[in-house]
Amino acid sequence: MKRKISILGSTGSIGRQALEVIDKLQDKFEIIALTAGSNVDLLNKQIEKYHPKYAYAKEINLINGAAPLSIEEICSNKENDIILVAVSGKIGLKPTITAIKNGINIALANKETLVMAGDIVMPLAQEMGVNIIPVDSEHCAIHQCIKNISQVEKLIITASGGPFLKKTVEEMKNATIEQALAHPRWNMGRKITVDSATLMNKGLEVIEAHHLFNMDYDKIKVVVHPQSIVHSAIEYADGSVIAQLGLPSMHIPIQYAISYPERFEGIKSKSFCFSEIARLDFEEPDWKKFKALNLAYEAGKAGGSATVCLNAANEEAVFEFLDGKIKLFDIINAVETMLSKHSIRKNISLDEIFDIDNEIRIKTKELLNSVRA
Ligand code: MG
Repeated sequence: MKRKISILGSTGSIGRQALEVIDKLQDKFEIIALTAGSNVDLLNKQIEKYHPKYAYAKEINLINGAAPLSIEEICSNKENDIILVAVSGKIGLKPTITAIKNGINIALANKETLVMAGDIVMPLAQEMGVNIIPVDSEHCAIHQCIKNISQVEKLIITASGGPFLKKTVEEMKNATIEQALAHPRWNMGRKITVDSATLMNKGLEVIEAHHLFNMDYDKIKVVVHPQSIVHSAIEYADGSVIAQLGLPSMHIPIQYAISYPERFEGIKSKSFCFSEIARLDFEEPDWKKFKALNLAYEAGKAGGSATVCLNAANEEAVFEFLDGKIKLFDIINAVETMLSKHSIRKNISLDEIFDIDNEIRIKTKELLNSVRA
């Protein structure tokens, strides 16, 4: 029987690659719904090719060839076996919760869902018996390594180090948008690429890992590994380390997440050859240069609304950087200021999370206005 899947954000980087995976596995998957934001032209081309029953885009009247449905309706549709949440930003959170409440498994590519509301999402998934399979390559690697979570002592998350790994603080401070977007290993959307340049992406991944695997922050380590061959690792109580290796390609974690617990050939990456790779380097992150990583650990350990603040301040500042309005280091300085001013609230509801998120975004914009002035 074919697995029935919907893709939220099918025109984005992860969504497009997911459809490339499904191209190779047409006998395994049936697409129930595709959703897009503003790229309705590409969505219509995807509808023509993949024949989903339903679709959503911001301009819903422009959809051709599929019945228009809201994202909430798509996520409540129990026809779905799995929903790939491939939208970026906070818009991923509510639909993910709706799908979980309807008992639908989640392939999760949206970091914000866990960074903003991991304390709500993970217990709910457990209560509903829903699998949340990470698409993020590091978490996908850890998911593949773990046999028995209770025996795991440590998670070791690898970081490529981004485009500024070998640059000085001064060079990084004055980086152009193009330099920040020139990621050496991974081809991703613009926001996440900037986050990878500051290592905020790694910080968000630490928070994500904390929720996904219910692991204390003290037991989550980050190691810089420029080749991006070891996608992450775990250490067991006896000191044994299990790592997952592969050539850097997002197709593989996407395919794993939507196929789990099965494994298909599908888009098989080029056969892995140790001797061709020849060497793997590892080093401690430069905590001074990449202050974002520290801020993420601090926010994670503080818990409650602190990670909502971290995420909202960072996202607003990244957008301003991408608009050419502020410098790269202003992003992290803004996050640090916002975190230091934030009075943390615990046990918050979803509505409170969105309120805090809004408030932090407004305050971050005001702060950055004064930086520019
Ligand atoms: Mg990642």
